[in-house]
Amino acid sequence: MIVLKFGGTSVGSAERIKKVAELIKGNEKKIVVLSAMSGTTNSLVEIASNLFKKQNEVAANLINGLKLNYIETVNKLYATAEYQEKGKELINSHFNFLLSFTQDSFTIHEEKAVLAQGELLSTALLQFYLEEMKIKSALIPALQFMRIDKDLEPDDFYIQENLSRIISENDDQQIFITQGFICRNRYGEIDNLKRGGSDYSASLIGAAINAKEVQIWTDIDGMHNNDPRVVDNTRPIKHLTYDEAAELAYFGAKILHPSSITPTKNSNIPVRLKSTLDPDSDGTLITSKTESKGLKAIAAKDNIIAIKIKSGRMLLAYGFLRKVFEIFELYRTSIDMITTSEVAVSVTIDDDTNLKEIEKELLKYGTVEIDRDQTIVSVVGEFLEQDKGVASRILECLKGVSIRMISYGGSNHNISFLINTEDKKKALVKLNALFN
Ligand code: ADP
Ligand code: ASP
Ligand code: MG
Repeated sequence: MIVLKFGGTSVGSAERIKKVAELIKGNEKKIVVLSAMSGTTNSLVEIASNLFKKQNEVAANLINGLKLNYIETVNKLYATAEYQEKGKELINSHFNFLLSFTQDSFTIHEEKAVLAQGELLSTALLQFYLEEMKIKSALIPALQFMRIDKDLEPDDFYIQENLSRIISENDDQQIFITQGFICRNRYGEIDNLKRGGSDYSASLIGAAINAKEVQIWTDIDGMHNNDPRVVDNTRPIKHLTYDEAAELAYFGAKILHPSSITPTKNSNIPVRLKSTLDPDSDGTLITSKTESKGLKAIAAKDNIIAIKIKSGRMLLAYGFLRKVFEIFELYRTSIDMITTSEVAVSVTIDDDTNLKEIEKELLKYGTVEIDRDQTIVSVVGEFLEQDKGVASRILECLKGVSIRMISYGGSNHNISFLINTEDKKKALVKLNALFN
């Protein structure tokens, strides 16, 4: 069995949904994971935020505006009156659910149910289209098998047990359609795998069924060697190892959700990144094999916060680092980069939910400086052992960019720099010279 995941742009219009149907028909048994149509989750976030602020009229206008896009999609997608009708009924039921919150109370607990509507809609629209085209398929609800546990981590056992059961109950089917992103939490409530989480769904599903391959279909022909949103002349990379892909995803390559490589890596399932706009292009293949050494790609992650803690004593006494890290652990805030000197330690985080509390605790051990609007730039490859000169070449490229932190040697795949976000474009463009 294979898993194919289609992202927001790949299901972003009636024409794109028809293209997906073209790509998935055929005899191989498969699970198709869909995101919401592009723009929908952002709109739902805005709707939920207005409902939360009791701006019910604004929320109602946003809901009705979004509904019009869906009506247009249904009009273009289905050829028969029967399916036009079915499509409209489907839209009415989801949008009436959303509108009900403008008449009634809305609490933050309902936010996740609002966000889930995008994936519920896109999968039902595709399923109807396949039915209309007489392509046999089954819609299997992610809310019946995808679950996170008390630590908000995927409950692998539950996912595997329930997904296998559902698939074996539908043994006569070749094509299964399901939602990315959405899941249930340990209380059985609707939750999600965080923004961009459909990639993670696909990878978890791939691992649960021990798929032959997981394919991530998106709007670009694979992982590029630099951020295509910032730099011109980037190129797709033919092959990456799981570790390289994971580092790039973690450090800002938006094409993959940061956690999405782990399940496939652990089960040694190949991941292929493909373009729905150019299905014949090679894309990127991600496996455990190292096919080429050296520099592979550059990624950047924004919204980073740097925290410098200067020890109250003259030198970093033993136990100081432990106390500092314990504070971040207590507030479940993960650290991306670390550098130390004799008297201070600098760390970076990307989640400021508990920053105030963390700062208060850290102040017990020394002075604390916090800088926002930082960006981590990561140079990723398989280089440390093979090419001792790589660090100096990279630093040479970064001449003229002020560097706040450098992390080198933590893994064989990554050299990272912390810079001001305003210098990001300059840094990425300069580093692109490494590929010439
Ligand atoms: P989807 O909706 O299919 O999940 P995303 O927008 O999440 O698509 O991811 C694809 C986008 O990731 C591309 O359009 C591209 O702008 C961006 N991106 C950022 N870094 C990279 C990279 N190194 N290689 C390819 N795409 C990248
Ligand atoms: N629809 C969700 C989002 O926009 C999940 C995804 O697209 O991967 O974040
Ligand atoms: Mg995505």
